[in-house]
Amino acid sequence: MIPAPFDYVAPSSVEEALAALQQHGDDAKILAGGQSLLPVLRMRLNAPELIIDLGRIDSLRGVRDDGDAIVIGAMTPHSVVGADPLVAEHALLVAKAVAHLADAQVRHRGTFGGALAHADPAGDLGGPARALDAQFVIAGPAGTRTVPADDFFVDLFETAISEDEILTEVRIPKHTGWGAHHEKMVRVAHQWPICAVAATARVEGGTIADIAIGLANMGSTPLRARGVEEALRGQPATEDAVRAACGRAAEGANPPSDLNGSAEYRNHVVTVMCRRAVLGAVQGAGA
Ligand SMILES: Cc1cc2nc3c(=O)[nH]c(=O)nc-3n(C[C@H](O)[C@H](O)[C@H](O)COP(=O)(O)OP(=O)(O)OC[C@H]3O[C@@H](n4cnc5c(N)ncnc54)[C@H](O)[C@@H]3O)c2cc1C
Repeated sequence: MIPAPFDYVAPSSVEEALAALQQHGDDAKILAGGQSLLPVLRMRLNAPELIIDLGRIDSLRGVRDDGDAIVIGAMTPHSVVGADPLVAEHALLVAKAVAHLADAQVRHRGTFGGALAHADPAGDLGGPARALDAQFVIAGPAGTRTVPADDFFVDLFETAISEDEILTEVRIPKHTGWGAHHEKMVRVAHQWPICAVAATARVEGGTIADIAIGLANMGSTPLRARGVEEALRGQPATEDAVRAACGRAAEGANPPSDLNGSAEYRNHVVTVMCRRAVLGAVQGAGA
């Protein structure tokens, strides 16, 4: 199908983009890589009067070191994030998840901020963002605010970003030296996960000193498997300990039932995937 007609602007600064948003209110829509928005427009599930393309705002692109965090610009394509040495060194879990995200074409066009702003509960980046305690920097008419990952994801396809705001960057506290593993279950290659587990861990002398685990498609938002984390902190990094703890992976989850699997199936399979993800992460951390 052909999208409904719309006007198009491509501002060169965040300020100009915010002014256009303010002027047109909910008749306007932000365009990032277009990998999710364009299908929505073509199916006429949304018919904005104005598209505000962020593609010419250079300040929204790139990865930089900012002391105790790395900062990823919202308009940085997945392919750039996945190949960035700062990401590999300080947020390995993000690099691992991006490697599993869609195909090369989508990774080339789709953006880090666009995927997180879209907030598909089956998206591959929400779990790592929650596990790494990412901070979302959001610009609006009243200035800039920072929202922690625990508060950013509100519901299915709904985030803390208001209609007159723009996600500008994502700050990720450095997890230097942490092992990481992203375990994703798909029926068809290059697709969204039936469920996915993103685990990152720090190991000291064979003991799990710290661990963080994010889940995708196990509820209306990405989740943290806090029960598993609590059970494993300070424990030996052995397969038995990990297997026992990962039995708690579905605690607090409310997964969907669909053609790919029932909620009951997901609640079971996430325990198996959690074990694989945690074992991969602790092995990567030197256990
Ligand atoms: C064939 C295919 C396979 C895919 N497979 C996967 C997969 O396996 N895993 C996965 O995680 N994803 C997958 N995706 C989605 C991909 O990650 C997209 O890149 C992502 O969902 C949207 O990013 P985008 O930059 O294209 O955003 P767009 O499509 O341009 O925008 C998405 C939404 O976010 C809003 N938005 C974008 N940027 C901002 C911003 N800075 N501030 C405020 N609002 C903003 C837009 O208004 C829109 O509502 C797939 C997509 C396709 C087409």
